[in-house]
Amino acid sequence: MPSLEELNRMKPEKRRAEYAAMRARCPCPTCPTYTECAKEREEKMFCIYGMTPDCIVRELKCICKKCPVHAELGFRGMRYCTRGAEKRTASRRF
Ligand code: SF4
Ligand code: SF4
Repeated sequence: MPSLEELNRMKPEKRRAEYAAMRARCPCPTCPTYTECAKEREEKMFCIYGMTPDCIVRELKCICKKCPVHAELGFRGMRYCTRGAEKRTASRRF
């Protein structure tokens, strides 16, 4: 998987394809904190896209530390759905 810096340098189409592949591997929907509202809106991969606008308000367990995307991108945070994206993704471009 490319690094975050490589992702940010990619052309938009290629980056979108990479993000789609990462999204497919995001286990958020199996997390105790995840909600029906988030499922209906197909929200996930909050570490990149940022926190949910209003679907998740109650923090239970977070399984980000067991996520392959988290490890491969060298992320350190957790609870992205309620606290926002990993800081180093601030320059992301979609
Ligand atoms: S960001 Fe963490 S707490 Fe939120 S749904 Fe995903 S795994 Fe669960
Ligand atoms: S680190 Fe958390 S929010 Fe990001 S893809 Fe993995 S489970 Fe989803």
